[in-house]
Amino acid sequence: MTEWLPGGSPGEAAVVSELLPGGWLRVCVPLPYSLRFVNSYLVPEPEGDWTVIDPGLNTEESRALWLAELDKLGIRQGALRRVLLTHQHPDHYGLAGWFQQQYACSVWMTEKAHRYAKRMWGAGSRFPLELAEWFGRHGMPAELLAQLEPHLQSFRERVEPQPEVSYLTAGSCMELGGESWSLIDAPGHAGGALCFYSESSRSIVVGDQVLLRITPNISLVPGPEEDANPLQSYLTSLRELSSYVTERVYPGHREPFTDLAGRAREITAHHERRLEHLRGLLQQRDAASAFELCELEFGSHLRRNIHNLRFAMSETLAHLAYLEYEGEAEQRDEGGFVRFRAVTAGDPVRGGE
Ligand SMILES: [Zn+2]
Ligand SMILES: [Zn+2]
Repeated sequence: MTEWLPGGSPGEAAVVSELLPGGWLRVCVPLPYSLRFVNSYLVPEPEGDWTVIDPGLNTEESRALWLAELDKLGIRQGALRRVLLTHQHPDHYGLAGWFQQQYACSVWMTEKAHRYAKRMWGAGSRFPLELAEWFGRHGMPAELLAQLEPHLQSFRERVEPQPEVSYLTAGSCMELGGESWSLIDAPGHAGGALCFYSESSRSIVVGDQVLLRITPNISLVPGPEEDANPLQSYLTSLRELSSYVTERVYPGHREPFTDLAGRAREITAHHERRLEHLRGLLQQRDAASAFELCELEFGSHLRRNIHNLRFAMSETLAHLAYLEYEGEAEQRDEGGFVRFRAVTAGDPVRGGE
């Protein structure tokens, strides 16, 4: 899913496309959200054809941009080998099926990421209803819940047609642009997400796992197959990624950068501050719903933006889940509504939801 910008201003893309080392092209594909652009990477292969990483959201504007860019480069059907997806969020995955139809190419992502895409947008998806029901139990008012389903449904046309997918496996290697790349499991922002790392060029494609000036959204998602403690998974992933020697970091939004470990430290510190604030909010009151805590943390102005409110709510729940796992908070079901409270030393800790 696209990230949200708490208190930030939308960034401008200075370029439509930018030539990178190795003949790679960074293509800034437009988005109708505050993020404005997703970075796609067009990679020349030694055999003369091309690979696309994260083609973008399916809108008229982004299709027109791609047709113009590929025409400029003389890339026609048969010259586009495959689409690689770092993760399944619509701003990255949405155009994959269109590319497959247009250029008869293969589309690759992890099986876990594909399962989530099918849960979100597959035939008969109940996800919008499930999310609304879950947010309702966590205190979101009915007038906001009523906006959720149409909001989520609005993504569907931007991810159609859905591609036939082949699977990438974390822990394996692949050839890309004449180099060998390790596929690194990168959970927390999106289950099943991958980073691609080349030891020879010290380059890493990070998707949305680490971004400049944006803290990637960390969402708790309802469902038995989803990560029950995504913030823990994310912080662990940041530590792991920091151990790679990198000179070029290619992110899914904003410009490429160099200091992966430094940016990972900043994002980790951001979450530690937010956890500390949440601990304080819990300790100051007897009990509170996730929605009340979300508004205390992010402000009630988000009621006017269901897109950002959804991310804020899911991130508040992710932080609460983290504190529950640490034994610092617990939730109680009070007549179908869930409220959280701080656990102090000596309190018995109940199991998670
Ligand atoms: Zn994302
Ligand atoms: Zn994104």
